[in-house]
Amino acid sequence: MAISPVTCAIRVLEHIVPDGALLFDSATHCDGRVGRTSTGSLGLKTMRGRIEDFVAFANSTATTLGREAETIPPDPHGAVGTARFRRTLAWHIARRPGGLVALAIQYGHLRTAISGAYASRSRDGIHDLLDVETARATVDALTALQDDLAHGGGISGPAARRAIHAATNVGTFTGQIITARQARDVLGNPHLTVYDNPNTLLMCVYKPDIALCHRAPAQAAPRLDRCMPACANIARTDNHARQLLARAQQLEQRAVHLPTPLAERLRANAHKLRQHATRHHDQRITTPERGAL
Ligand code: SF4
Repeated sequence: MAISPVTCAIRVLEHIVPDGALLFDSATHCDGRVGRTSTGSLGLKTMRGRIEDFVAFANSTATTLGREAETIPPDPHGAVGTARFRRTLAWHIARRPGGLVALAIQYGHLRTAISGAYASRSRDGIHDLLDVETARATVDALTALQDDLAHGGGISGPAARRAIHAATNVGTFTGQIITARQARDVLGNPHLTVYDNPNTLLMCVYKPDIALCHRAPAQAAPRLDRCMPACANIARTDNHARQLLARAQQLEQRAVHLPTPLAERLRANAHKLRQHATRHHDQRITTPERGAL
């Protein structure tokens, strides 16, 4: 299963390398900086060079377009390198599902596909990184919710009470996730299956048997990039409601400068977002006793 940008990238690579060669064939892609080898794929040293080249390309493009704020600043820890690049990728997969990084979407699908088999598979490399970053994202989301509720914040949606329950169970994991094994403990805990979804401005309190993003059979992880607004696993916080209104305002402002059919579509989307925010304020519940969590 591959999404369109990934398929296109593979097609381009297939045109670059000779028939039957690896997509990152070292003999074809070698740029002369590290010596030419005749077999195998690109080595780590070349990959590190390519990452630095990409940073330089991104920065010059941002400067050319007058978007200096989007340049990548010099890193105090030195060159990014492949290990940190993979970690960054894992961060995006865990915290920006369906976001701007095509590979993140691709690996997000991978995580969903393999996550049902924690007990029986050997998991290493990117898989362990995915577990660690996903577990960190889960604990961060629940810790923020716990704090929010303790200070009078509200939560709404069909899964609101399950989210509150999850927030009461996260305490023992806060600030502790370091190893892949600890991450798997978090991800395997049915009381902590909570995923913040910044793209759809909601929290998924995942219960596989009622999820609308999967067809049967039930999967161990949700497809956040296919989230359905009618799902019974949805919860929304006051913060989500604020962001819904902000996004609605952005859409309405953009609509002013667009031709009628497109503008109407944006205004209709903005209207839906405002409805979600209104419903949140009408239905939100709180945990008034400070010691309740
Ligand atoms: S459809 Fe339901 S289960 Fe799937 S991501 Fe959205 S809220 Fe979660």
